Amino acid sequence: MTDLFTVVNPATEQPVVDVPLTDLAGTDAAIAAAHEAFQRWRAVAPGERAALLRRFAAVVDAHVDELAELEVRNAGHTWGNARWEAGNVRDCLNYYSGAPERMFGKQIPVPGGTDLTFYEPLGVVGVIVPWNFPMPIAGWGFAPALAAGNTVVLKPAEITPLTALRIGELALEAGLPEHVLTVLPGKGSVVGERFVTHELVRKVVFTGSTEVGKRVMAGCAEQVKAVTLELGGKSANIVFADADLAAAAASAPYAVFDNAGQDCCARSRILVERSAYDEFMAGFEKAVSALRVLDPSDESSEMGPLVSAGQRASVQGYLDEVDVTFAGSRPDGAGYWIAPSVVTVDDPAERIWREEVFGPVVAVMPFDDEADAVARANDSDYGLSGSIYTSDLGRGLRVARAVEAGNLSVNSHSSVRYWTPFGGYKESGLGRELGPDAPLAFTEEKNVFIAH
Ligand code: NAP
Repeated sequence: MTDLFTVVNPATEQPVVDVPLTDLAGTDAAIAAAHEAFQRWRAVAPGERAALLRRFAAVVDAHVDELAELEVRNAGHTWGNARWEAGNVRDCLNYYSGAPERMFGKQIPVPGGTDLTFYEPLGVVGVIVPWNFPMPIAGWGFAPALAAGNTVVLKPAEITPLTALRIGELALEAGLPEHVLTVLPGKGSVVGERFVTHELVRKVVFTGSTEVGKRVMAGCAEQVKAVTLELGGKSANIVFADADLAAAAASAPYAVFDNAGQDCCARSRILVERSAYDEFMAGFEKAVSALRVLDPSDESSEMGPLVSAGQRASVQGYLDEVDVTFAGSRPDGAGYWIAPSVVTVDDPAERIWREEVFGPVVAVMPFDDEADAVARANDSDYGLSGSIYTSDLGRGLRVARAVEAGNLSVNSHSSVRYWTPFGGYKESGLGRELGPDAPLAFTEEKNVFIAH
């Protein structure tokens, strides 16, 4: 008998639907079918592959509201976020549909002959997705991988499989051949691990916790298998006294409480120049109390619940160790709610300052000068994102260059744009996704020499 997982709406704690979990035999069969499909998919003419990806994008576009509604119910995302996320899948497909016809190799001058390079697809790519952004993270993997001529097996997080399953159906509706993109709902310890150990999977794209990511990397090493890791974060939002403090305070809640803080790029540490600390905190408190924390079925909700009872318990564990300086609101009754919470910290050794809480909790600390701000920001095992608020452009650039993280924004909190590379330093990850070069990360560069 097939095991089932009951998907639960985190805002109401009510069951949504039962989803069958893929077992080991089912995973092996899907990988074998994807391997067979690879031989045909890589031979599809580049223009035709591009057209199929554009058609896939159009079908996703026609289902943005349906996909968004699934994410509101499955993951507790707000409508605004969920529509953006479905649109991001469409945009990635459109963007990478330009790649198949532009996978240019090089002609390299050498003595005695002609030398050419080719970008050859890898084969079957395994994409492992976490529960916090089920749609975009899936698309960042499968869109460039398919464009480069690979087939994809994709494992959504066990608790948030609904949008990925629907996107798999939409791929077939758009005319992608069977087994080119296969969605396998199931457990990480079964399906995810099999991507790592199966010899026909030639690359694993893993997004998730640093702890599991290290195990995935060690497993891939056994077969010298390519791996991309997008892991945790503890990003700093650095506010200088010369910044537009009102704008910095008004935007700071969205930089950390978006998606209830379950965001790898959350600016969960705020560093404020000491001379501006009181003014910033006063504006920040006002902005946090104005945040609309509501059941996300309400279109005006700006923050929903945590994804699961387990995640709420984990976040509450951090809050139980500290005094909350101020907090926003949360609904009463059912749902995995935690109010957006602000904690002030003196000692950088505190757990709440060092560890990724992955919930609506932010720790704030003052700093003395630019060098102190950079040193405190870099005093972390992580290095994913960060923001710098200042009116001095030179300082903005200087600090952005000095912070050890993959994605910095000056006077903005944006991290992810499909046009630009995304990924982490240190324990936040390995490799880059998105941007113009992403398809190349799903290829082997082959060199061919022809003697004259
Ligand atoms: P997780 O527990 O590491 O799980 C991530 C994915 O890995 C899930 O699909 C999980 O399956 C699967 N998995 C678990 N054990 C596995 C194993 N032994 N082998 C292969 N796959 C396995 O992480 P999470 O709690 O879902 O996600 C939160 C974390 O993701 C945070 O640390 C966050 O910062 C990080 N994240 C990073 C980025 C980025 O781009 N840097 C983006 C988003 C999230 P199950 O669901 O079945 O356990």
